[in-house]
Amino acid sequence: MNDARVPHHPVPTTVETFDDLGLSAPIRQSIREVGFEHPTPIQSAVIPPALRGQDIIALAQTGSGKTAAFVIPLAEKLQHGGGLRALIISPTREIALQTQAFIELFGKNHDLKAACLIGGVKMQGQMRAIKEQPDIVVATPGRLLDHIKRKTIRVDKVEELVLDEADHMLDLGFLPQVRQILGKIPKTRRTMMFSATMPPAIEELARTMLRDPLRIDITPVGRAAVGITHRLYVVAPENKRPALLALLHQELGSTLVFARRRVDAEWLYHILQRQGHPVARIHSDRSQGKRVQALANFREGSHRILVATDIAGRGIDVPGIEHIINFDIPENVEDYIHRAGRTARVDREGIVSTIVTWQDLMMVRQIEATLGQPIARCTVPGVEPWVERQKPPTRTRSRV
Ligand code: ADP
Ligand code: MG
Repeated sequence: MNDARVPHHPVPTTVETFDDLGLSAPIRQSIREVGFEHPTPIQSAVIPPALRGQDIIALAQTGSGKTAAFVIPLAEKLQHGGGLRALIISPTREIALQTQAFIELFGKNHDLKAACLIGGVKMQGQMRAIKEQPDIVVATPGRLLDHIKRKTIRVDKVEELVLDEADHMLDLGFLPQVRQILGKIPKTRRTMMFSATMPPAIEELARTMLRDPLRIDITPVGRAAVGITHRLYVVAPENKRPALLALLHQELGSTLVFARRRVDAEWLYHILQRQGHPVARIHSDRSQGKRVQALANFREGSHRILVATDIAGRGIDVPGIEHIINFDIPENVEDYIHRAGRTARVDREGIVSTIVTWQDLMMVRQIEATLGQPIARCTVPGVEPWVERQKPPTRTRSRV
């Protein structure tokens, strides 16, 4: 995939093709251009009933390709013109922007126009975008409600509603706003809901807001150990921090960030705090009492992010850490394995993301040798990946 606004993470796909799913030639063409060859399991399960217009609840792990599972059928059903007919509600600005990018890519051959209504951006520009008659709006709940209340947007012609990342909507406290929005949209609409998990509050929302939905659940049965996914982000030195910030917005679960030195941990903590992240920190310059407190806040979830150094991070045993981010690559392979072991404890899955510059590639090779497999090279939107040069052919030692 070569669009800089869309992340790239290698994802397991089916052996089916998009041709098998009942899509028209123009949409299949745009899928080819994006570079998707086979649908992922959730895409092949969701797209056919979505094309028939059914209400759907789809449950699949993070990173399984849920965005395209709803964007592709919407792109198929809608053509440009006729006003705002589809609304997608996203929990964060980054997810909303990525979804908008997907709509533009997959909806290209139907000339679809999408506006993105997210917080932290001036209303003016958004009002201009609304005047341009978008077919689809992608929005975060608060800002969308603002527009609805100020009557700067009309949602009375919406036929298609998507509630994306429903469980994160709940985590972030957006359910009351989501309910208000749902109350403003015609009851005759079709609704699709996507989530990685199904807590009772989401179950309840689905029961009251969806009509006889088809339930598609492809989460692994019995929380089988799926293990650790390793990801590598190779960037220029000045892009390490933007890469970290983008990753923190992309994966919304409980996250442990490792820095090599105490000063870096301290610096990162302040940056993240200034960005409004719920973050705690532990390193050896902090008193025992403060470290215990930080760990407790992280464990109980009042702080989603914990920044730690290797030494302070040694014994961290917090169940449910979903994401480890190595802001600095560890100094040796043992530390990498140890850091990675903080996630995927017991029978859970986890992601280990490592941000590196070209100078770290020697260490990356050592880690890959220990893991027995290459680490997938990934990108995040807005951060240019560093292009690794092919390894020069190893010269055979000349015999004298
Ligand atoms: P989810 O919403 O389930 O967490 P995303 O929609 O964000 O997952 O997709 C995860 C990643 O998989 C993205 O980088 C996306 O570009 C990629 N992806 C999705 N579907 C496919 C596909 N059919 N082939 C290749 N890559 C895909
Ligand atoms: Mg998603």
